[in-house]
Amino acid sequence: MANYICTICGTQYGEGNSPPPSCAVCGDERRYLGWDGQGWTTLAEMSAEGYRNELRPLEPGLIGIGSPFAVGHRAMLVRAQAGNVLWDPIRFIDERAVDQICTLGGIEAFSAPPPRLCNPKKNSHGNSEASIT
Ligand SMILES: [Zn+2]
Repeated sequence: MANYICTICGTQYGEGNSPPPSCAVCGDERRYLGWDGQGWTTLAEMSAEGYRNELRPLEPGLIGIGSPFAVGHRAMLVRAQAGNVLWDPIRFIDERAVDQICTLGGIEAFSAPPPRLCNPKKNSHGNSEASIT
């Protein structure tokens, strides 16, 4: 069992023995799948492939945690006296990035991911819905 992740948008799905037939986000007719079509990965595959994050100071107290995966999503680590906040979390953070974040004081709180990173579902009308899991 694995939690498959769409390689196009980065949406992660619930556990399964195989990837979903399509991504509810990228399967929308307004989206673009690319020449290779729908792709899937898992956190274990990303780790085995050497996927790495990049932490980049953006301004005092604000660090971007970059991701060359999917749509190039970037989380923000907001540093504060009361504790750091991870804003707009990304799907995968490698061990080196975790160590760097711990060195910076760790994470006291984090924001909910945007709807595109939640488990999208189709309602009875065929429209996409999102739920935070
Ligand atoms: Zn997708």
